[in-house]
Amino acid sequence: MKVGQDYQSNRSNIPMPSKSSYVDVAVFAAVPGLLTYKIPDALLGKALPGRGVVVPLKTRKAKGIIIGDSKKLHSGIKAREILDLWGDEVILPDDLVKLGVWISGYYFSPPGEVFRSMIPLQKEVQERWMLKISLKGKRKLKNLTLESGHEGQDEKELKVFKILSQNQEWDSRRLQLKVKGLSKSILIKLVKSGMLESKHVEVSRNTREIKWYGLPPACSFLTSKISVVEKRILQHLQSSGATVSQGNLLKFTKAKSSHLKRLLGNGLIVSYDRPPNAQMANEVDLPKNNDKLSSDQEKVFNKIKSFLAVDKFRVILLHGVTGSGKTEIYLRSIEKVLSTGRSVLMLVPEISLTPAMHTLFEARFPGKVALLHSSLRGRERELEWKRARRGEVQVLLGTRSAALAPVVDLGLVIVDEEHDASYKQQTEPRYHGRDVVIVRARGKGVPVLLGSATPALESYWNAGRGKYELLELPERIAGRPMAKVEILDMRNEFKEAHSVIPISIRLKNELKQEFNRKSQVMILVNRRGYAWFLLCRSCGHCEGCKNCSIALTYHRGDHSLICHYCGYKKNVLKECSSCRSKYLHFVGAGTEKLMELLQAQFPRLRIGRLDRDIAQKKGEYQRVLTRFKQGKLDLLVGTQMIAKGHDFPGVTLVGVIASDAGLRFPDFRAAERVFQLLTQSAGRAGRASEPGRVIVQAFYPEHYAVQAAAQQDYRAFYEKEIRFRRIMHYPPFTALANLVIRHSNKEKAKNLAASLGQYLEPLCDGNSALRLLGPGPAPFERLHNYYRMQFILKCTNRNILNYTLVSLLESLASSGWPRKALAIDIDPVDLM
Ligand code: ADP
Ligand code: ZN
Ligand code: ZN
Repeated sequence: MKVGQDYQSNRSNIPMPSKSSYVDVAVFAAVPGLLTYKIPDALLGKALPGRGVVVPLKTRKAKGIIIGDSKKLHSGIKAREILDLWGDEVILPDDLVKLGVWISGYYFSPPGEVFRSMIPLQKEVQERWMLKISLKGKRKLKNLTLESGHEGQDEKELKVFKILSQNQEWDSRRLQLKVKGLSKSILIKLVKSGMLESKHVEVSRNTREIKWYGLPPACSFLTSKISVVEKRILQHLQSSGATVSQGNLLKFTKAKSSHLKRLLGNGLIVSYDRPPNAQMANEVDLPKNNDKLSSDQEKVFNKIKSFLAVDKFRVILLHGVTGSGKTEIYLRSIEKVLSTGRSVLMLVPEISLTPAMHTLFEARFPGKVALLHSSLRGRERELEWKRARRGEVQVLLGTRSAALAPVVDLGLVIVDEEHDASYKQQTEPRYHGRDVVIVRARGKGVPVLLGSATPALESYWNAGRGKYELLELPERIAGRPMAKVEILDMRNEFKEAHSVIPISIRLKNELKQEFNRKSQVMILVNRRGYAWFLLCRSCGHCEGCKNCSIALTYHRGDHSLICHYCGYKKNVLKECSSCRSKYLHFVGAGTEKLMELLQAQFPRLRIGRLDRDIAQKKGEYQRVLTRFKQGKLDLLVGTQMIAKGHDFPGVTLVGVIASDAGLRFPDFRAAERVFQLLTQSAGRAGRASEPGRVIVQAFYPEHYAVQAAAQQDYRAFYEKEIRFRRIMHYPPFTALANLVIRHSNKEKAKNLAASLGQYLEPLCDGNSALRLLGPGPAPFERLHNYYRMQFILKCTNRNILNYTLVSLLESLASSGWPRKALAIDIDPVDLM
C-alpha cells in the first residue's frame, strides 16, 4: 500500500475512506460544474479525494479527480459508475483539492479546467478515437463510387470510406489530417448512422527517462580526435554555461545520440538524470555569500523571524527599493524555515528570472530545490512536480503555475515582484498566482512574504489599512546611491532633429561615452520585432491581422508580418493591400531594428538581444544573459524582460526608448504599468560600485507616472494613483469583473451581449454596491477571429459581486444562453 505510507512519511493527514458511495468528480472536460458518480464495490475504500478516476461522460470516457463525497445527489437520480482509477497514488493532497475548489468558485472556472491545470500527469496516457468502416459503410461506399460528381461533405465522406476500406483502423486525428476540412461532427454523424464503428483506446505515452548533459567539473584533455559535430556539442555546452537536456542538445547542434555516447566515453561530457545545480558550471554566476546583513536588512529579518516563530497566517509586504537586498532576505527566511524541517514555496514572475534565482538557490540549498516553470514541458515538468509531491525537496521555486503545485509541510510562501502582471493567467482558469498562494497560506495557517520595489496598488493599500504588515528597505545596499534618472522630452528632440528617430542625439552621445569607459549599457524598448507596423503613405492603411483588430508587427528575422496576439503570419507586402500603392513605410522601432541601428552606429560593439522571440528558443535567453553578465557583451537590447529583477553589476547606463507609450492604452492600470517599468529599469543601473544613470525618452514627460519614476518616489506615485482609483471606482476600492462576450459573427456578438444585458441589468439595478458598464466593444474588438463585446462590473463588496455572477450564470443556464460565448475575468489585470 503506497498511498498510506506516502502520507505518513510526510506527516500529512491520511485521507479518510469515503463513507458515502457517491463522489463528486472534477471531470477534465468542458463541463461547468462537478459531476456525481457512484463508486463501484470493487473500488470502495480506494476512491479517495484527490485520486484520479476514469469516468463515463456521454458516449466516451474521460479522466478526472475525485473532490469528495457527494452532497447534492437527490434520491431518484441515477449516477453512473466510476470505471477505473488512474495514477497509482492519491494525486492531489487534501489542501490542493480544497484550493482547486476555491479557485473554481472564485474565478468562475470549470472545475475540470482548474484541476487539469493543477497536475502535470494527465497526458501520461492518451486516449485515441479509433475508427473502422462497417459493413453498412462498405455498401454505401459501393453506391457512392457508382455515382459521380460529389461535392462538399459527400466528397469528404467518400474519402473517409476509401481510406478505411483498406481494412484498417484509423485514429480520428490522423484521419482529420489526411482529409482536409473533415470535422469531428461529420465523423460522429457517420458513427451514429452506423457507417463507421468506433472505439476509444488508451495509448501510453513514451515515458523514457530524460538525460541532461554538461561539461565535467574538472578539465578533461582531448585524447582522441573529435568530429566537427562533437566540437559543436562541446561549444554549445560551454556557451550555455549549464546542463542541457538531450532533446535540446541534439536539436541545437544537429547531432545524433551516437555523438553523445562517444563524448561520454571519452569523458569529455558528463550526463545526469535530472538537471543538477542548473548553472553551476558557470563560475561567474556563483553568488557570493552576504555574511553580514545591513542594519536595515537586520531589522526586517528580525521582524520576519518573529512572524515565523508564531506560525500563523499573515501577509508581510516587503517594500524595498531596487538593489536593497530583498533576495538576501528571502534566502535567510527560507533558511530559517528549512531549519525547522518545513518547506517553502517561492514564486517569481518571469521565466528569464528563474535561472539566476535557481543558481542562487541551488548554491544555498543544494539538492533541496525543485524548479517549475512554464517552459518545462511534459516529462521534465512531471519529474519536478513529483519530487515536490513526494516531499523530496524543501524549496519549490517557480512561476505562476507553481502556485498550484504540491509542497509537503509548507511553512512559508514568498512572492517576488508581487506586482507583476504575469502572475495573472490570461486563459481559463484565469487565476492570480499571488492571490491564490495567499489563500493557500491562509488555509495552512502560514505566513506569506510579498516583495517588490513597486508594490501593486492593492497590496500597498492593504498594508496601509493594517491588513498586511509593511516592512521597508528604503535604501540600496552598502549606501549605493539610487540611479539618477533623466527625462528627455522627445517633443524637443523632434524639433531639433526634424524627424522621429528612435535614439535621440543625446542618448547616442551618452552611449559613446559609456562605451569608451568600457561600461555596459542596457537599452529597453517595449516592443519586439523590427517595426511596430506597416503603414501606407498613400492611403493611410495600416496592415492588420486577419483574425484580430491589431496591427501586424514586422519581423525582419522571419521576413514576415506577425500578429503578437494570435501568431498569424504573412509575407511582407510589396504594395498596399488597400490601394496598391508602393509607398509602404515601416513605423516605430522594435528590438530587432534598434539592434540593427546601434550596430550600424557602433560597429565594434558586441550587442545582444533579449525578447520573447529569443526566449522561445530554449537555452538561448540564458545564454544571452550569461554572456552579458560575464562581460562578453557590451550592450543588451531588450523588452521589459530585461528590466525585471536582474542583477548585472557592470551596467552603468540604462536607456529607455518610447518609455511611456503605454500611457495611451485605455486601461486603468496603464499609469501603474509605466511607473513600474520605469522604476524597474532604473533599478538595473548602478548596482555595483559605479553609480548608475538612466535616460528615459518620453512623450509625456509631465505625467505623474513618469515624474514619480524619475524621482524614484513610490509614495508620490501611490498618493496620486490611489486618488484616481477612488474617484473612478477602480480597485482597490472595488472588486472588478470583466465579462467578455465572443462570437465569430459581429452581429451575433452584439445580440448575445444585448441578451446578456437583459439578465444582468435587473441583477444590478437598485443595488448601490454595483456598477455596470456596457455592453460596448472591447478595446481589442477582434482577437483570434472572435468579435468581442464587454461588460465591466465594479462592486464595493466582493460577496455581492460573486453572488451576482452566480445568479447570472444560473439564469443563463436555464435559458440556454451559450455559456461558452462568455469569458469571465475576475480581478482582471487589464481590460483590453
Ligand atoms: P533587490 O532584489 O532588492 O533589487 P538584490 O537582492 O538583488 O536587490 O541585492 C542587490 C545586491 O546587493 C546583490 O548583488 C546582492 O548580492 C547584494 N547584497 C545583498 N545583501 C547584501 C549584504 N548584506 N552585504 C553585501 N551585499 C549584499
Ligand atoms: Zn494604401
Ligand atoms: Zn491576430
